[in-house]
Amino acid sequence: MIKAKGIAAQAAKAPLGPFDFERRDPKDHDVVIDIKFCGICHSDIHTVRDEWGAARYPIVPGHEIAGVVRAIGPKVTNFEVGDHVGVGCFVDSCRECTNCKQDLDNYCLNGMNSTYNGFEKDGKTPTQGGYSDVIVVDENYVLRIPKSLPLDKAAPLLCAGITVYSPLMHWKAGPGKKVGVVGLGGLGHMAVKIARAMGAEVTVLSHSDKKKEDALRMGAHHFISSSDKGAFQNRAGSFDLIINTVSSADLNLATYFALLKLDATLVSVGAPDKPLSIHPISLIMQRRNYAGSLIGSIKETQEMLDFCAKHNITPEIEMVKADQVNEAYERVLKSDVRYRFVIDIATV
Ligand code: NAP
Ligand code: ZN
Ligand code: ZN
Repeated sequence: MIKAKGIAAQAAKAPLGPFDFERRDPKDHDVVIDIKFCGICHSDIHTVRDEWGAARYPIVPGHEIAGVVRAIGPKVTNFEVGDHVGVGCFVDSCRECTNCKQDLDNYCLNGMNSTYNGFEKDGKTPTQGGYSDVIVVDENYVLRIPKSLPLDKAAPLLCAGITVYSPLMHWKAGPGKKVGVVGLGGLGHMAVKIARAMGAEVTVLSHSDKKKEDALRMGAHHFISSSDKGAFQNRAGSFDLIINTVSSADLNLATYFALLKLDATLVSVGAPDKPLSIHPISLIMQRRNYAGSLIGSIKETQEMLDFCAKHNITPEIEMVKADQVNEAYERVLKSDVRYRFVIDIATV
C-alpha cells in the first residue's frame, strides 16, 4: 500500500483536520499521481456537511486534482512518469452500459465511482479525494494537462471548467447566442470565460453589485444585479441559454425563466441542499425548457482542457494552505471567493 496524508472531515459539523490513510498499490493500468494542487469546489462543502445526505466519514474531499505522474502500472500506455495530469469528479465507471459506451461515462447507468465519498470498483473500499498528497487512478480516468496550463490554475478546470463547458457545448453557445450566467463563483466565472471564447454574448446575473467590474474584466458583455428589476424587464425574452450555478435554494426561478426566448433553456448546474420551486406557467409561456447537467465525460473533459489551453483560459485563483481550508469554506459560503480557492498540497 502507498502511504497518503491529507485533510479530512470526520463528521458533518467537524472542521477538517490532518488525516493519514493508504492508497492501493498500482495495478496494471493504474497511474500513481503526486498531487500538487486541489481546487475547493462548493460540492466539497455540500458533501462534508452532509447537505446532500449519504456522507460517509472520514471524507477527504477534493475533485479538482492536478499533479505529476510518480509511477505507472506495467500496462499503462497513455502516460509516463513526469507527465502533468488531472483527475476530476470520478475515477472509474462500469464501462459497459450504453452511456459509458457512448463516451458519456459521467452518466454511467450503474453509477460512476466518484472521486471521494464513493467506492472503488470493488464496491467496498471508500474513495478519498484530492486534499491529499497522492492518488492512484486507472489511466482511462486520468486527464492530460497541456504543458501551457500551470498546474495550480489547471486544477479548477477538472470540475468547475467541465461542468460549464459541457452544457455550453450541448446547448450550442456560440456566435449569435445570448448566454446568461447566474452566480459569479467558481463555476460561474469559468462559464463567463468559456462562453466568451465560444463567441457568445455573455451576461452575468449576480445577487449584488460587488462583482460587476470583475465580470466585465473576465469577458462578460453585460452585468445585471438581481435587485435591478428594470434590467430584468428590459432583457425579458432575450436569452438563448441561461446557466444557473447558484449553490443556494434562495432563488426565484420565475424571474430567470422570464428572460428566456421561445424554446430557450435554463440549465441548473448548481445543486442546493433544498428543492427549488417552479410554476409550470414559466415554462408554458414561450415553450421554455428547464434542464440539468452533470460535470462532463472523460472525453469531453480532455476536450475542455485542450480548449482552455488553446484559448488561454484559466480560472482566477486564491492559493490557500491546508490549515486555511476551514476558513476558505466560510468565505465560499459568504460568496466571498475570488474566484476559486486552490490548496497548495505541499502544505498538507
Ligand atoms: P461558489 O463558488 O460558491 O459559487 C456560487 C455562487 O452562487 C456565488 O458566488 C454567488 O454568486 C451565488 N450565490 C450564492 N448564494 C446565493 C444566494 N443566496 N442567492 C443568490 N445567489 C447566490 O460555488 P461553485 O463551486 O461555483 O458551485 C456552485 C454550485 O454548483 C454548487 O451547488 C455545487 O455543488 C454545484 N456543482 C454542480 C456540479 C454539476 O455537475 N452539476 C459540479 C460542480 C458544482 P453571486 O455573488 O454572483 O450572486
Ligand atoms: Zn466540483
Ligand atoms: Zn456505465
